Amino acid sequence: MAEVRVFGAGVAGLMVARGLRAAGVDTVVVDPRGTFGGASGRSLGLVLPCHAEHPHRTLAALGGQARELSSFYQSVRLPGFRPMPVRWVAAPFEEPGLHASLEGAISLGLPCEPADGGYRMGGGGLVDLALLRSVLAEIPVLPRDETPVEVEVYTTGPDVVLEPWLADKLMPVRLQGARFSGVPAAEPLVSAGTMLRIAGDAATGGRAATPHFEVGETEERLEPRVSAMLARNVRSLAPGLTAVEAEWAGIVAEPCDGLPLVGPVPGRPRSLVLAGLSVNGLAAVAACAEALVIGLTRGEQRLPACLRTARM
Ligand SMILES: Cc1cc2nc3c(=O)[nH]c(=O)nc-3n(C[C@H](O)[C@H](O)[C@H](O)COP(=O)(O)OP(=O)(O)OC[C@H]3O[C@@H](n4cnc5c(N)ncnc54)[C@H](O)[C@@H]3O)c2cc1C
Repeated sequence: MAEVRVFGAGVAGLMVARGLRAAGVDTVVVDPRGTFGGASGRSLGLVLPCHAEHPHRTLAALGGQARELSSFYQSVRLPGFRPMPVRWVAAPFEEPGLHASLEGAISLGLPCEPADGGYRMGGGGLVDLALLRSVLAEIPVLPRDETPVEVEVYTTGPDVVLEPWLADKLMPVRLQGARFSGVPAAEPLVSAGTMLRIAGDAATGGRAATPHFEVGETEERLEPRVSAMLARNVRSLAPGLTAVEAEWAGIVAEPCDGLPLVGPVPGRPRSLVLAGLSVNGLAAVAACAEALVIGLTRGEQRLPACLRTARM
């Protein structure tokens, strides 16, 4: 009998399982879609050293906790991580130059310098996804498992709703993305406004459907107006991009404050959640997964207060 069952075989679930198994905890991972069937299979591996929103907005929302959050996200590195500067650029509808964003990043203690159409931020880099995948592939994943366990950990997104507590904490958010060809192998680039990410010779852009597009928040179908807007925004930032290679739409679960939600589920003994990571990205995944493992195995609290389930 396993001691812990982890639902979800994305980077989050597999990192939790890897940490628990290394600590000698018998752990089983369950995912009907297999390894990397969700957002993790679409990531470009670009790692931000802070929350994915512009730093000045994170500072406005969190005050002093924003710096703690940024340090926390840099405290753990995924296997295959390679440090390198990441260029932040402005989407057409954002202020040109990103001065406030740059000042915010400097206030977070991140090394930054102005660059074309934005700035370069240190502290982040790229994860070699093939390497990460090969490291995590050693963890077996079952399509289902219902044997009794002592603890369950949910890293699944919106599919598993733990009533009643999580139902009004995690909102389904519809993301639409596209992958473009014609990307010159370039420095990693991010635009918070369009969720554009360029890494190596690949690019993705995402967009949460909003009510004015009249697209249901829980529909996975592609919306042509969102596709057109996405292509327009991405090409304005990276003119070399040509054909769209692939498009997708998917539903992720995000807490209403846009921060990861980690820890015990109130009112549901022996259940923990690790959610809200789709927008926050891989740095958040690594740090939150390790903090959850340390909490479970040593009883130590490493999570910043702004990420704990207790905040809700
Ligand atoms: C297009 C795209 C590009 C991205 N690029 C980057 C990037 O460059 N850098 C970055 O840092 N982040 C990026 N991200 C975000 C990054 O992918 C996520 O932060 C990360 O993958 C989240 O991992 P996860 O394990 O929480 O989620 P997921 O990988 O989505 O894993 C959740 C898993 O739960 C499973 N599941 C669902 N229901 C059940 C159930 N009932 N039982 C069991 N399992 C279930 C799903 O099958 C899925 O495998 C990107 C995301 C997308 C979509």
